[in-house]
Amino acid sequence: MLIIGPPGSGKGTQAARISERLGVVAISTGDIFRDNVKRETSLGVEAKKFMDAGDFVPDSVTNSMVRDRLAADDVREGFLLDGYPRTASQVAELDDILRENDLELDVVLQLTADDEELVKRLLGRAKLDGRSDDNELVIRHRLGLYHDQTEVVVSRYDERGIVTKVDGIGSIDDVTERVMAALKVAS
Ligand code: AMP
Repeated sequence: MLIIGPPGSGKGTQAARISERLGVVAISTGDIFRDNVKRETSLGVEAKKFMDAGDFVPDSVTNSMVRDRLAADDVREGFLLDGYPRTASQVAELDDILRENDLELDVVLQLTADDEELVKRLLGRAKLDGRSDDNELVIRHRLGLYHDQTEVVVSRYDERGIVTKVDGIGSIDDVTERVMAALKVAS
């Protein structure tokens, strides 16, 4: 499955819970990039300048990273992809990758929240864990990219009838409950 939502909608937090509950591996492109930045790998050095500006890392880097990750054995029993695809061209790329690996998407979970709430949350997160892309200018830029480029991703999957929308406003536990109900996972 995929989890899609604007920055600050709680994707990472909910992805960890879904992964645990369903026993499937959670793969976050943002986390993979941040890990590479921390370890100062060449991928990390390349990605950092885009991430700090709130821009998308180029497809040439991102697509091959996802392609490698989805070829690993641990995704055979199911996976939850967080943060990819973010553009229409990444949707096409993911279609290819899945076909090559004989995998199929069952569900695309969309977390929704309005921009002002998201800005508030992200500024709070900036204070807590100091992510270098959590300042107001960059936050608004990332939100703009979500509206301009990622909403169309949801539309693509909507056309395929596999999107489930969940309201991402509320406490973490409340949102988890909604997510599990939407996925029809018994609590
Ligand atoms: P996230 O943790 O999902 O908010 O991602 C953090 C940053 O990593 C984004 O702002 C982008 O710079 C980069 N990133 C993550 N996923 C992608 C992707 N699918 N395509 C391009 N850049 C990405």
